[in-house]
Amino acid sequence: MNQKVLQGRGTLKSLGAEIDRLGMKRVLLITGRHSYSQSGAEKSLQNGSLDSVENYRFYDYSPNPTIEEALAGTKCFLENGCDGLIAIGGGSAIDVGKAIRALQSHPGFEKQIITGEKKLTETLPPLIAIPTTSGTGSEATHFSVIYMGGTKYSIAAGSLLPDSVILDASLTDSLPSYITACTGFDALGQAIESFWAKSSTQESRQYAMEAIPLLLNNIVDAVNKPSPSNRDNMMLAAYKAGKAINISKTTAPHALSYKITTLTGLPHGHAVALTLGYFFIINETQLSELDIDTARTLERRFAELYRCLGVDSAEAAKTRWLELMQQCGLKTNYGDIGLTGVVARKIVDGVNSERLSNHPVNIDQAMLAGLFSIER
Ligand code: NAD
Repeated sequence: MNQKVLQGRGTLKSLGAEIDRLGMKRVLLITGRHSYSQSGAEKSLQNGSLDSVENYRFYDYSPNPTIEEALAGTKCFLENGCDGLIAIGGGSAIDVGKAIRALQSHPGFEKQIITGEKKLTETLPPLIAIPTTSGTGSEATHFSVIYMGGTKYSIAAGSLLPDSVILDASLTDSLPSYITACTGFDALGQAIESFWAKSSTQESRQYAMEAIPLLLNNIVDAVNKPSPSNRDNMMLAAYKAGKAINISKTTAPHALSYKITTLTGLPHGHAVALTLGYFFIINETQLSELDIDTARTLERRFAELYRCLGVDSAEAAKTRWLELMQQCGLKTNYGDIGLTGVVARKIVDGVNSERLSNHPVNIDQAMLAGLFSIER
């Protein structure tokens, strides 16, 4: 799973060379509907980067892309005889790009590809990913999140990893503060969850530990006083967090976030942030259920996370987390975002069990129900 990474302000101008290197002749450009121009990508690409290819633009998808939208993009790819894809936008654009890349390869088996019943071929048409948000790390992962009938699926295959990534943070200068906050907390949640995930490895923890301080040192300013420097750091950190979850996957806060988003409309990163702070406490209390070696290993990991947050206990980490959210303008109160008792029950019932089983300590439904009745 090799990937070429071009990083730095202005690297978008190297897109033409990447297109040639990958041998693309007819390209499907998956972009945001408005973010393509807002981010400056459209203007920048008028410099001739796309001159060597026929290109077709697709932007008809929602923030949490569905199978129907991915199929519309697949039709556009096939009808125009495309041989490559360029996804420029937030995580949703990049996920749609990956989904089209997957679905076009096995016409007639789209649902089975999304559910994982049908495996993808090793060779897929080339994909260049160009993020315009600093959050999901989708540019660094081999997953594509797609919703089918209201349920979240993650298409996963090594061949889905984009061939090239262009990390040009100037494309994020136009991000409004709330989107900077949501996407930044998605990256921070991913890095923290990756660090404590059951499936973490030394390599994934290394990526996570590079990402966490970079995010913590830049997120508040990137939201409230954005500068080229903090934007650059956020983009690099989000990429590293993506590299970390590409190996380890995510855990309970992400497992809950998908239903929170589906039922309340809350953006993905805000939905992740909403519960993550409480897992510092749950993690500590559940340590006694584990064998002594696992508990000690996790204790050391949790202590390292507390140090990064500048605190020395689970309770203080939770408080710090909620403060950080507030400093970034994110609501922390369940009631304030329409998460009432009935909705909470549906979230607990609909939790993503695969991600939950990757959480470092055992989590049961009663704990999750308790989490939503916590007084704030
Ligand atoms: P997004 O792609 O929906 O973008 C958020 C909003 O920001 C949109 O309204 C978009 O138009 C706008 N926007 C994007 N770039 C902009 C810019 N430069 N200037 C102004 N506005 C801009 O949100 P996201 O948080 O980047 O991605 C979320 C999606 O990513 C979800 O669908 C989630 O499931 C998925 N995801 C995927 C992975 C993965 O590994 N594949 C990991 C995490 C999340």
